[in-house]
Amino acid sequence: MTTFVPISPSIKQQLLLELCECLEDAVFILDANLRYMSVNAAYEAMIGFEEPFMIGRPLGIYAAEFLSEKERSILQDISNQLDDDGFYENNFALLNRYGRTLNCHISYRRIYADETVYYVGMVRDISSVVEDQQQVAHLLNHNQLTGLPNRKVFLSQTNDVLMDSFQEVVIIRVNIDRYRILINNLGQDNVDALIKEFVARINGLELNQLLCFSHLGGDDFGLLFEFTDAHMVRHELDSLMHMCERPFVLNSTSIYLQISVGVSYYPKDGNQLSSLLNKAEKALQYAKEHGGDDVWWYNDELNCPSIDSMQLETELREAIVAKQFIAYYQPKVALDTGVITGFEALVRWQHPTRGLLQPKDFIEAIIKHKLSFDLFRQMAFQIAEQLCIWESMNFTQHVCINTDAAEFSHPEFFDFVSNLFTQYSIQPHQLHIEVTESSLMLRHASVKQQLIALKALGVCLALDDFGTGYASLSYLQEYPFDFIKIDKSFIDKIVDNRTQSAIVKAILDLAIALDMSAIAEGIETEQQRDLLLQMGCKYGQGYWFGRPVCADIATKMLRHSSLPNTDLN
Ligand code: C2E
Ligand code: MG
Ligand code: MG
Repeated sequence: MTTFVPISPSIKQQLLLELCECLEDAVFILDANLRYMSVNAAYEAMIGFEEPFMIGRPLGIYAAEFLSEKERSILQDISNQLDDDGFYENNFALLNRYGRTLNCHISYRRIYADETVYYVGMVRDISSVVEDQQQVAHLLNHNQLTGLPNRKVFLSQTNDVLMDSFQEVVIIRVNIDRYRILINNLGQDNVDALIKEFVARINGLELNQLLCFSHLGGDDFGLLFEFTDAHMVRHELDSLMHMCERPFVLNSTSIYLQISVGVSYYPKDGNQLSSLLNKAEKALQYAKEHGGDDVWWYNDELNCPSIDSMQLETELREAIVAKQFIAYYQPKVALDTGVITGFEALVRWQHPTRGLLQPKDFIEAIIKHKLSFDLFRQMAFQIAEQLCIWESMNFTQHVCINTDAAEFSHPEFFDFVSNLFTQYSIQPHQLHIEVTESSLMLRHASVKQQLIALKALGVCLALDDFGTGYASLSYLQEYPFDFIKIDKSFIDKIVDNRTQSAIVKAILDLAIALDMSAIAEGIETEQQRDLLLQMGCKYGQGYWFGRPVCADIATKMLRHSSLPNTDLN
């Protein structure tokens, strides 16, 4: 056995010195006045300054004149605690010479040597631990897809504002309309890409007084605004709505997103977080149930909707069975002669207790509850029967039926339409199908196939509400339409507004260039009719010629129409 030789003080000193130089932790020695006396290699590497530069400089330091108020107070704290206890430790974010922020654990110890006071400091880089912690915190507090604060953060921030500042605020809930349909048609990954773009656009709006913008999940977003003036909040809400008017491009396809927005306001709508959220939610649901694409501020009347949504669904199903949906007919006329060229069939619901209901009262619910095809069938049978009756009276006008994209995707749609022409003695060109621009939004492959097949069958196709969506022109090129129906919103201002009349003129020219016919919707005055005629528009419909009426009155109109056998085709 070899003999044990105790270490000599000078060797021990040498070894500890070596060890100190190899340590991963940064070590430094300060004098009684907290000035640097020595630093190890790890410290030099971490901070970016070498020992000769540091020596004699005060803790905190190398650029003391740039210390912030907060840093000065921390240094004072360190100094006081070292005087009192001889020990201090804390976690700091240190900015090094190269501008990098290091998250560190720093400890200081008072040590006496030769009756002189020294302070030894140790710095451990805990950046990776802090990063891990930050990542976990981020995961817990943010939506993974968009990186926005999640529901928890939204609730807590809103609560803080309500509890602490009593600041007037508005709570805004935003949902994307037809989100489920988007997922079914585009797939979750594509919808996720849309959502990211949607969020980027909202961020790009740089909304004023926005305190928190949160992704509550799926298509659900929350915004908290400081309320200083109602005008400002309305302006910001307008920006949100306008933002959706530009298409979102996905794999070179244009997609239109519409949003529904519900708003509640503190203090008017309550002072509890839960009731304010509840009311914003109620306003949001109200906006959605009434067709979406709208902003609703909460008011107490929303609490008593005319028909509860579940009851409405039951009633709609009963209405299908009991055949309560009836076709009303609005005449379409040749503008120069006033002769009826056809009719547009518009659904009315003969409700057992509430009277005759308009489409605005139930069409959205029909789509929502997937009853579109049932409604279409019921309307189509009535129209086919009516066409046969008129045919027997020698009236050969066509009838337009309105459709929604949801109907086209029904597997039996095409067969049903083509069977109509064998079941009833009517010609395919007597049936026109109107498709709204908004229902083409998704550009679902089956819609295009169905339209091409219907056209091949001889059915005439009309693009309804033309000009209300941004993709109008591309729809015209992409789908085989025969007619363009210029939306009422353009016709309304055509007499007084030169821009509107210039737009209508351009649409009419475009229709000619594309070999299509144009029909003006919503003509209410003689001046509108005259101006349209001057511009070269041949066909129109509107209250000035006749409101939608039941079949019997439509027949009377036909009888009085001077040239009853004229048809567009
Ligand atoms: P739309 O197809 O654009 O029909 C025109 C709407 O404008 C009709 O409203 C009509 O009554 C109204 N209108 C026509 N001329 C004038 C006018 O001069 N002034 C004013 N102020 N309004 C006029 P209605 O019947 O309430 O229908 C609203 C919408 O409901 C229709 O718009 C259509 O998109 C939809 N719709 C109607 N029937 C059906 C249906 O059977 N199936 C489907 N899927 N949708 C339908
Ligand atoms: Mg229509
Ligand atoms: Mg229309």
